[in-house]
Amino acid sequence: MVRRILWLAAAVAACACDGRVDWRRGDADERPARIEPVVARDPAGPAIEYTLRFDDRATHYIDVAMSAPTEGADTVDLMMATWTPGSYLIREYSRHVEDLRAAGPDGSPLPVDKRAKNRWRVACAGVDRIGVRYRVYANEMTVRTNFVDGDIAVVNGAPTFITVADRLDRPHDVTLELPADWSDAVTALPPHPAGGARRFRAADYDALVDAPIVLGNPAVRSLDTGLAVPHALANFGERNVWDGPRSAADLARLVAEQAEFWGVVPYDRYTFINVIGEGRGGLEHKQSTLMMANRWMTRSRSDYLRWLGLASHEFFHTWNVKRLRPAELGPFDYESERYTRSLWIAEGLTSYYDDLLVARAGLMTRDEYLAALSRQIEAVQTRPGRAVQPLSEASFDAWIKYYRPDENSPNTTVSYYEKGAVVGFLLDAEIRRRTAGRRSLDDVLRAAYARFSGARGYTPDEFRAVAEQVAGGSLADFYRKYVDGTEELDYAPALAYFGLEWTPADPAPAKEVPAWLGAEVSSGPRITIARVLRGTPAWNAGLSAGDEVIAIDDYRVRDLDDRLRRYRPGDEVTVLVARRGVLVRVPVTLGQRPRASWKLRVAKRASAAQRARLRDWLRD
Ligand SMILES: [Zn+2]
Repeated sequence: MVRRILWLAAAVAACACDGRVDWRRGDADERPARIEPVVARDPAGPAIEYTLRFDDRATHYIDVAMSAPTEGADTVDLMMATWTPGSYLIREYSRHVEDLRAAGPDGSPLPVDKRAKNRWRVACAGVDRIGVRYRVYANEMTVRTNFVDGDIAVVNGAPTFITVADRLDRPHDVTLELPADWSDAVTALPPHPAGGARRFRAADYDALVDAPIVLGNPAVRSLDTGLAVPHALANFGERNVWDGPRSAADLARLVAEQAEFWGVVPYDRYTFINVIGEGRGGLEHKQSTLMMANRWMTRSRSDYLRWLGLASHEFFHTWNVKRLRPAELGPFDYESERYTRSLWIAEGLTSYYDDLLVARAGLMTRDEYLAALSRQIEAVQTRPGRAVQPLSEASFDAWIKYYRPDENSPNTTVSYYEKGAVVGFLLDAEIRRRTAGRRSLDDVLRAAYARFSGARGYTPDEFRAVAEQVAGGSLADFYRKYVDGTEELDYAPALAYFGLEWTPADPAPAKEVPAWLGAEVSSGPRITIARVLRGTPAWNAGLSAGDEVIAIDDYRVRDLDDRLRRYRPGDEVTVLVARRGVLVRVPVTLGQRPRASWKLRVAKRASAAQRARLRDWLRD
């Protein structure tokens, strides 16, 4: 028996070295022949077990006790993820781990050898299970890190659970020891089949990482969606500020709209976990999402629409990326980057549909939707990096560029969220135009979901082939210009199809046009240049991020905007800056702020046919 297990262990280890070919979820014909016998093994095997305690909440510590089977091995290698799926940055989660110790079943210490930044080797001395204890410092309140204090614990899988390397297929059990003054823990982890209070079982490590746990005193509301599958909204921190009933009622309409969009509900329950406070952002999971919202968001119409847009975005991911995913992303390698050119589909098209489905659900007016789309367009069109970085490349380099921005990023990169959404709008219009309104981008996503939501995912070419099939012809030109190239986006066909036009920019007063420098400055007692966009007067003059603006023409500047109103475009001035501790005089020719308008509106003379297409698109 032991011999057989060791052989299996070697086979799995070989599999892991080979780009982590995932025999657990792959189709039969995708499995490398040499590891086929592994499939015969009991798929569950002994579980890796964790107990979480929160005794030192005030100082932001989570105490983790882990028990792992050794399966007869002399040593067990422990691994902590360096990133978490959905957020493409190596975050080095193990930097928050401390005081890791191992012991045998009788409590006697076992030697631990730290082998890498996120790996430990435990010498097992013939025991069949090892116990491992460690502490995790948790003081970063985001959707992909951990936080704990007296009120709440946000526990994400990747930064919390050290697992046994190459045993990710094991069941991972979690028991939570809830502090007495907390009422509940919310997670999509299923209850443990053996029962037990706040005891859960994840089928494997992927499932564990995919189900954040939030503990505290939530207000949990089930959503009245009209669907057979239960949905809930768990609000942490409602206090007397957040409008819980309204947010639950609107979310229910949004869920129903999206379920109708996809035509399939691929889970048996779903939970929106909404942490209310001062954070922001969301992260998608298969049966839940973890969102962070500013507590005042339900008190302002525009903020509330942003929250609905966030919820819509994360929920759309339940299909687009959690199940319909780029082939390159999986199976997840939790210790290094996975590169894909398709984040403009996974994130960009999700960004296109998030507000659109809020509008279709009747929660956003037509004008509000056009304003939201216009903001995306303006973000793309005012970013010089659109002439430098193609959309597919922005996706590929997400790990080193999108997630690691600096002062020059606007000049050299595009956001695959923003440009992906805008390209989605243009592609949608293109497909509708070519098919006389019979087909749309909606059909592309549904067809791609039907074809590629299985184990393997889609390649860029496969997704494009589906889009071309729906469009009824080649999209080579569209892709060459807008996805793989940097040509300026041409909005004219889309605007003509829907009967939209740009709202004319407010005419500037004939006199007293203010001068424009084109440098973004920080606020505060000192005026320091934060970034300089390519092609602006500041860029052309050689002003730099980090320069402290002291004077213009030797007159002290306290308020840069106010001072620039005293000059006209074309004026030549000398800007005195402190640069790396030295005063420097920089001659600058001031310019005029570009006045291009990127605000869409329904064309005054839109035809009946155009108005009908607009209604068909927005369902209003
Ligand atoms: Zn997203």
